[in-house]
Amino acid sequence: MLDLVIATRNRHKAKELAGLLSVRGIRWHSLAEFPEAPLVKETGRTFGANAIKKAQAMARATGLLTLADDSGLEVDALGGRPGVRSARFAGRQVSAQDNNEKLLRMLDGLAPEKRSARYRCSLALAGPSGVIAFTQGTWRGRIAERPQGHLGFGYDPIFFVPRFGKTVGQLPASTKQRFSHRAIAARQMRAMLKRLVATGRVSRRCPATVGSGRRGPGLIV
Ligand code: IMP
Repeated sequence: MLDLVIATRNRHKAKELAGLLSVRGIRWHSLAEFPEAPLVKETGRTFGANAIKKAQAMARATGLLTLADDSGLEVDALGGRPGVRSARFAGRQVSAQDNNEKLLRMLDGLAPEKRSARYRCSLALAGPSGVIAFTQGTWRGRIAERPQGHLGFGYDPIFFVPRFGKTVGQLPASTKQRFSHRAIAARQMRAMLKRLVATGRVSRRCPATVGSGRRGPGLIV
């Protein structure tokens, strides 16, 4: 059995990731088992930089291979904001509803074709001595004019996906688990984890950004 840590304190993300990353031969641990692990500040300018920073810091703190995620929403009309500040867009200690209301106010009156946006997710896997694997996923959509649906979390009630004609707040969890930014990044990571269990290493052949619409750094080691 390989013991790995999922380094997120966001229970929604932990739940989605646990479902996406179940691999025979891997036993996942949550940060709750490591109360002494430090809080890592997300000071990076990109989701990737933050995921790598968190994975490395937590791998050093726990002594185990650690997977970290950083994700958020980019809105074209706002030059990519809220971006890495997605969780605290309306301020510190705010609710998802506060963030959604602020975003809707800022886009008030904007036509649907000008409300394009994307969710992004970066996943980094690190050991105490460095990063082993890095994957990314993107989910394109647009910001709805008002919240709809109560499923998911965060910006889901206002993130409209044209392919489904619905917001993510109206989509069943099983659909989000197939098409989301996190699902795309996690599928690639899962393939690497399977190889890790089978061979003791992640392969260089696995393209790290398939489906994300961007070529990224892929495997770092
Ligand atoms: P962090 O990665 O914990 O800093 O938070 C990322 C923030 O981005 C979340 O608190 C949400 O506001 C937003 N976010 C990331 N992924 C999703 C998602 O799948 N649905 C809705 N909001 C998301």
